[in-house]
Amino acid sequence: MPDLYLFNTMGRSLQKFVPLREGRVGFYGCGPTVYNFAHIGNLRTYIFEDILVRTLRRFGYEVTHVMNITDVGHLSGDDDTGEDKMVKSARERGKSVLEIAQFYTDAFFNDTSRLNIVRPTIVCKATDHIEDMIELIRRIEQNGYTYFAGGNLYFDVSKFERYGELAGLRLDQLKAGARIDVDPNKRNPFDFVLWFTKSKFENQALLWDSPWGRGYPGWHIECSAMSMKYLGEQFDIHAGGIDHIPVHHTNEIAQSESATGHKWVNYWLHAEFLVLDKGKMSKSSGSFLTLQTLVDQGYDPLDYRYFCLGGHYRSQLAFSWEGLGQARAARASLNERILALKEKAGAAIPAALPAPEQWSKAALAYREAFDAALAEDLAMPKALAVLWTMLKDADLSPAEALACAYDMDEVLGLRLVETEKKRVEVPQEMVQWIEEMIRTRAEAKKARDYARADAIRGELKEKGIILEDRPEGTTWKVAE
Ligand code: AMP
Ligand code: ZN
Repeated sequence: MPDLYLFNTMGRSLQKFVPLREGRVGFYGCGPTVYNFAHIGNLRTYIFEDILVRTLRRFGYEVTHVMNITDVGHLSGDDDTGEDKMVKSARERGKSVLEIAQFYTDAFFNDTSRLNIVRPTIVCKATDHIEDMIELIRRIEQNGYTYFAGGNLYFDVSKFERYGELAGLRLDQLKAGARIDVDPNKRNPFDFVLWFTKSKFENQALLWDSPWGRGYPGWHIECSAMSMKYLGEQFDIHAGGIDHIPVHHTNEIAQSESATGHKWVNYWLHAEFLVLDKGKMSKSSGSFLTLQTLVDQGYDPLDYRYFCLGGHYRSQLAFSWEGLGQARAARASLNERILALKEKAGAAIPAALPAPEQWSKAALAYREAFDAALAEDLAMPKALAVLWTMLKDADLSPAEALACAYDMDEVLGLRLVETEKKRVEVPQEMVQWIEEMIRTRAEAKKARDYARADAIRGELKEKGIILEDRPEGTTWKVAE
């Protein structure tokens, strides 16, 4: 395998990936806030993370992938302004916060499994980890990075020298108040809440006892607490959407490193946004597309996955129905090719196909080119192009080409092994009749009555049934 290069937002450069522990990767990706369905923009980010995990595994690493489920503390503004998204959604829908969280968590994993996104190794809910968060906040407090004001515990960014490094923010330049802030308790507009005790809203359902009073955690602390709990105080990769760079991830770093006193994450990966013609897609704006919207329009979730593979994760991807239609057409012809190869190879299951050691030089070169594309900061459009060139190469045997496509699909995740011809339903009586005809034909052949045998084949063909004589006997299929 070639060396894997990833673009690290910390330092803004392409860097060779070297894990902390040989052969292992600790990876944390910020999960959904479960107050609504994920929109297809969110899902683009999770498809990118899936490609990352699949690539790491292909490159031989044992990956522990941790994802949080935010079910408390995420206010409508990432900078502590507004109302808790969960509480608001529950009130608007006349449900309890727990019911809302459960419903949208299930909906989220239903979407990700339809997109063939591998489930994270560990999925952890914020509300199950309040004690861990409190413990971490105590460490931050003991190290002198906090102050208490107006009933809330704040992180004092002026105490953390490297604050803003990830986003390239310079506090001294930004003090003038680039961020509009409504909280008069903050000493610096970039300070953020670690623990709220003054709920700004009545009927706040999510409250816990803490050393700072009864209340609830700020949004950022859950990711610091849960990632360190499951991956250790230093780990390899942290990812999310690009919007998380200036606030959420910047604050996660400040919290984690002020608690431990050392570096927290080695590689920061961020996916660019999916944009609509009209601009940004956001959950809170109310108008957004879900995976189900696409399904309702007749698309397969994997058409959307294919569409996402067509753009590099660090470039914005403009969504359009036309673009999705092109992805669907491309995926349909990909599936057709795979089906044709399955028929020619006569062996559809991967185990019956030649292993890479038996491949020709040409097939191995395609595999290498595919891996080289992955190693180049997950260049999926390039990787897809290699798949297509390989499939069009007539020098490869069908079995070898099929094996090569399946091998690439480990990362592409387009379920090529499962590609099946759309079954035409044949009524049971007709099946019996066909089988009877096949038996009669076999007897005719045995009696060397080839004219009769051919006549039977012809009669079946007229009815749209094709016979195939194989060493193990005659099979039939519906003509295309
Ligand atoms: P949320 O559920 O709002 O916390 O967002 C879940 C993930 O989706 C985060 O990693 C966001 O950065 C990401 N995200 C939000 N909007 C978009 C978008 N339009 N395109 C791609 N990713 C997005
Ligand atoms: Zn996070």
